[in-house]
Amino acid sequence: MQIDYTDKQPKTLLNKGTGFLAGYSHSLNPYTGCAFGCSYCYVRKMPVSLFRGKEWGTWVDIKKQSAALLQKELIREKKKGPVTIFMSSSTDPYQQIEYKEEITRSLLEVMTGYPPDFLLVQTRSPLVKRDIDLLKQLGTHVRVSMTVETDLDDVRKHFSPSAPPVQARLNALQRLREEGIPTQVAIAPVLPSSEAFPELLRPVVDLVCIDDFFMGDGAQGKRTQQLGIRAKYEELGFSDWYNREAYKVVVSRMLEVFPEDRVRISQEGFAPF
Ligand code: SF4
Repeated sequence: MQIDYTDKQPKTLLNKGTGFLAGYSHSLNPYTGCAFGCSYCYVRKMPVSLFRGKEWGTWVDIKKQSAALLQKELIREKKKGPVTIFMSSSTDPYQQIEYKEEITRSLLEVMTGYPPDFLLVQTRSPLVKRDIDLLKQLGTHVRVSMTVETDLDDVRKHFSPSAPPVQARLNALQRLREEGIPTQVAIAPVLPSSEAFPELLRPVVDLVCIDDFFMGDGAQGKRTQQLGIRAKYEELGFSDWYNREAYKVVVSRMLEVFPEDRVRISQEGFAPF
């Protein structure tokens, strides 16, 4: 798909953590828009997308020269109190254009000099491996949360065809773990998966966060409803998986393999520290 890329000069980078991210002092989005364009993405129903007038997933604004701005903001915010950052809430910091632009990498470079108290890197891209050198420097003050919504790549392709394959994400988790970077898997949103899923995760991660459309779309499932995801489930024969209880199937499967305190639900799973 052709993506419309635009260079922008941001005025601010660190935004106050609110709502689902209330546990964080700030959120940080290196890009506006997201070329992964997942069909279920709740950002589709947020003002940033609604007022753009273009299909979500077809445009990305590149926040140029962000490093100097972040440095200024970090110095200011660190004087006020603990700085805990969620990167990112409405884009993927390691989408395709990051290979070339290295905006996210430049922000991590700043953070190694002015470390936040905690940084959660939320992505579904194996490109995060490129920045292992910087992530290592942040030590226990960072956690990489890799989205793996299902172990079934055919299911993933129905909902998120432009995002990286499941196996590439699992390989990335393994590599990060080998390098000693704190990691978790985010099964979020829960998509239909198989009984083999826990055993695939066991060797590559020791913390599991599970979230679904009803707890995690910021509107008790209403945004997801508006996106027509229920109809997609019905069309694909997955109706049994579209309800408020379905995530519990995944929780109980994970608990057969992971200790109880290593399986976390929704907001708790994304919390800092
Ligand atoms: S990767 Fe995240 S931000 Fe990007 S489209 Fe998918 S859900 Fe939305």
